[in-house]
Amino acid sequence: MTTIPHSLFPGAVFPAVAQTQAAALLAVQFQLGQSERLPPADLRALQFRQIGALVAHIDRCVPHYGLSLRKAGLRPGQPITAEAWARVPILGRAQVQQAGAALHATELPRGHGQIGEATTSGTSGRPVRLRKTTLWQFYWQCFALRQEIWQRRDLSAAAMTIARDDALGPGEPTGRLRRLPDWGGPVALVYPTGPGLMQDYRAPVAELADTLAREQPAYLSTFPSLLLELLRSGVRPAGLRQVHTMGEALSDATRALCLERWGVPIADVYSSAEAGIIAAPCAEHGQYHVNAESVLLEVLHPDGSACAPGETGQVVLTPLHNFAMPLLRYAIDDMAEVGPPCRCGRTLPVLARIPGRARGMLVLASGERRFPYYGHNALMQVDAIVQHQVVQTGYDEVELRLVVKRPLTAAEEEPLRRAAMAALGPPFKVRLSYRDEIARGPGGKYAEFYSELSGAGAGVG
Ligand SMILES: [Zn+2]
Repeated sequence: MTTIPHSLFPGAVFPAVAQTQAAALLAVQFQLGQSERLPPADLRALQFRQIGALVAHIDRCVPHYGLSLRKAGLRPGQPITAEAWARVPILGRAQVQQAGAALHATELPRGHGQIGEATTSGTSGRPVRLRKTTLWQFYWQCFALRQEIWQRRDLSAAAMTIARDDALGPGEPTGRLRRLPDWGGPVALVYPTGPGLMQDYRAPVAELADTLAREQPAYLSTFPSLLLELLRSGVRPAGLRQVHTMGEALSDATRALCLERWGVPIADVYSSAEAGIIAAPCAEHGQYHVNAESVLLEVLHPDGSACAPGETGQVVLTPLHNFAMPLLRYAIDDMAEVGPPCRCGRTLPVLARIPGRARGMLVLASGERRFPYYGHNALMQVDAIVQHQVVQTGYDEVELRLVVKRPLTAAEEEPLRRAAMAALGPPFKVRLSYRDEIARGPGGKYAEFYSELSGAGAGVG
């Protein structure tokens, strides 16, 4: 038995690795079951204690931060105060890219395991290169398991995943359906589960729809943009009980369409390569619970003050367990709306909505930014639309890119344009353009909206 290093809980133990990984996962679950109901002030104190350990580590062996933490008033070995913490500079994505190895710890505390590399994927322009440890990976699994426990899905049923399938052999057709004995991941390590199905997102949508109709899985996991294509494909999967989405911002319109066409709810998980599983949906009330034992999440106004429930601001993250590449107050370029305390009894911080990337904001000539409403519902009414992407191309111009099954009639085009112009408001003109496809990034994702005017990194990867 060895103590889990830098656990929020003193005396947490790893019962000697491999054969007992399941036991370690369950031991941490037991603790998480208690911490998720702690008074918020107690949880915050535990987070600051953990950040204290991280700050002492940074002071010893992460060159990038230099004297900035001491200047903010953080003294290694002394308790962190909220006032000093608010003075710690925000770390931007571009800074992380520039810092390179200066953000890498030159040594690791005992017990954090091996260092692995990863990169961010998805809708962002240039990827961020990351370092992680075995311990960090273990915590990722702990929070993946907690989310599963919260959802109380029927583990004996079949679950299908549509994502990038890295296990396909070289030369194997990307569309091949793989049959798996179980759901995989931490849940199958701990509990017996029903069969799993894995299909790569690069398979044609018609083929993915066929698989859904034929195999009738109870659960489907995929990205919101791909779910939308499936909803539009006309497939009506029998036996489906829930859709699980991740990887991109999920719009309210897609949620509504899923209920309307398939009659099933969506459980959406907020995660990122930089911070792991950041928040997971409450099974009772649908809003997101932040995994506060894994990440300190702040939602901030442009002036740096904290947002109150009902307010939307910039997400700033401090992952608590990555000692290989510590990110303090990392601005991930996402926006979120703070939610009121949840009635389920869990005291973890709440996010009501995660509208998505800050790049996904409309930029006005005044420099102001606002959420893009572009008549999403009108787009949903036209069944011939397979994919759409909305791009701000000028201070008064938005392009509506469409991939269609057949040419749209003028009677179909006009309401789309009108709805988009009404939703965007003046001075925006809307131009329709047709594409053969809207290319997805290397991880299979794409941004439904982006602005070409939002500065660096605006390209869609
Ligand atoms: Zn809840």
